Amino acid sequence: MQKIKIFNNLTRSKEELKTVTPGLVKFYSCGPTTYDFLHVGNARALVVGDLFHRVMKSLGYQVTFVRNYTDVDDKIIDRANELKVSSIEHADRFVKECEKDMQYLGMIPATFTPKVTETMKEIIQMIEDLIKNGFAYEINGEVLYHVPLFKEYGKLSKVQLESLQHGIRVEVDGHKKHPSDFVLWKPAKSGEPFWESPWGNGRPGWHIECSAMAKKYLGKTIDLHHGGVDLQFPHHENEIAQSEAANSCEFCHTWAHNEFLNFGSEKMSKSLGNVVTIRKFVETYSGEVLRHILLSVHYRSKLDWSEEAIEKAVQEMERIHQFTIDLKKAFINGVIGEEMVTDLIVTEEKIKEELANDFNVPAAMGLFFGMIKDFNRVSKMGALNTNYAKKLREITSFIQESTGLVHKDAEDIMKKLNQTKKNLKGSSAGDEGQIEKLIEERKIARSTKNWARSDEIRAELTKLGVEVKDNPDGTVSWTYKA
Ligand code: AMP
Ligand code: ZN
Repeated sequence: MQKIKIFNNLTRSKEELKTVTPGLVKFYSCGPTTYDFLHVGNARALVVGDLFHRVMKSLGYQVTFVRNYTDVDDKIIDRANELKVSSIEHADRFVKECEKDMQYLGMIPATFTPKVTETMKEIIQMIEDLIKNGFAYEINGEVLYHVPLFKEYGKLSKVQLESLQHGIRVEVDGHKKHPSDFVLWKPAKSGEPFWESPWGNGRPGWHIECSAMAKKYLGKTIDLHHGGVDLQFPHHENEIAQSEAANSCEFCHTWAHNEFLNFGSEKMSKSLGNVVTIRKFVETYSGEVLRHILLSVHYRSKLDWSEEAIEKAVQEMERIHQFTIDLKKAFINGVIGEEMVTDLIVTEEKIKEELANDFNVPAAMGLFFGMIKDFNRVSKMGALNTNYAKKLREITSFIQESTGLVHKDAEDIMKKLNQTKKNLKGSSAGDEGQIEKLIEERKIARSTKNWARSDEIRAELTKLGVEVKDNPDGTVSWTYKA
């Protein structure tokens, strides 16, 4: 098991990952609210959670990973009312769509994926515990958390309770004892879904669900909690306040947050209307390309959405998968690369160290690309040394497992990438039928030594955005130019 260092937002410093049980990580990540198709910004949070899960497993940890679905929420109820469907049905439909998106993104399954609707008993129990412990109070069927009683409030986000009061008009929410008090249970309005509780029919506030789900599946104290940076306050601050007040012990030792995916200088979000959905992207390009873009920068850096980012991802993915195709076909039992094996063992260690160093994917991939470059240089010289080929395969499958950036069916990915390049070119790209015809015509021209016609066809193909490759075995292949 390789020790992992992670930037803990609670202490604002990089620390060794501490776990209650040695070798086992109890990991919770805040999942999506299922009211519509997710956008590529949401995908960043999902893929970063998946990255943590994969890397920890690949480095030898056992991981119990919980990622929830918020399937009871104002946005879901509003949308369902607009569409005149039940909110439970509406939320369920988008849980299924979200599951599809996660497959497109190449995510491995979480251990548990609970929903609010399935956790009501535990949510109500936790609110009862908070009332019993004196941290929550009920007024007219509504239950509120009394923030000033939790002395450590603000320890994650570093907000101070006094500054929270500033400018808040207390009389707006006259029933609150303190302006920062937040809702744990709200009474049902007509037309809304509700559940029975000791305080009457109603539904839970947003924050309590994560505290209750984490406890149900991971216990009172968990090791690692993740979400987008916007969730740090108030959501995660409130989770800490709830869990620690209800359970009388530490909730979570390490808090990690991914930065935003931005559109221009703004956050990509539904309310700003600058949204690209995962589904739209997958239909136009591919889920693998999206994953590659999302992991192209460190999770704590901002990521700007751009066409250049798509182009760069395509080029890198072609380099990776051409390499895996070439490696599969390479002759072995030779001497090529023999003297590089020792260096490669060092590279393998460095890749692991980079991933164990706060999940530094760009640095690990930089080392991987260096390895590919060396392979491309020497592999043309003859048959590879068996140990060299074996080490290359081992490192490649480690990258595959830990990052999900290498895909098993390389030929299929190359086809998808070709399609992506075509879609990036838009209407200037020739269609496949027309290209195949010209390639056939060029073959005939070459076999009859009609070089003038052959050159003409090549020029036509160039205009259609196509690159032609005459392979050593006499076959001809083509791709759209990057
Ligand atoms: P929501 O459905 O808004 O609760 O968001 C689900 C997850 O996506 C949360 O972890 C958010 O922090 C994250 N998220 C939302 N928008 C973005 C964005 N533009 N970039 C990165 N993460 C985001
Ligand atoms: Zn949460």
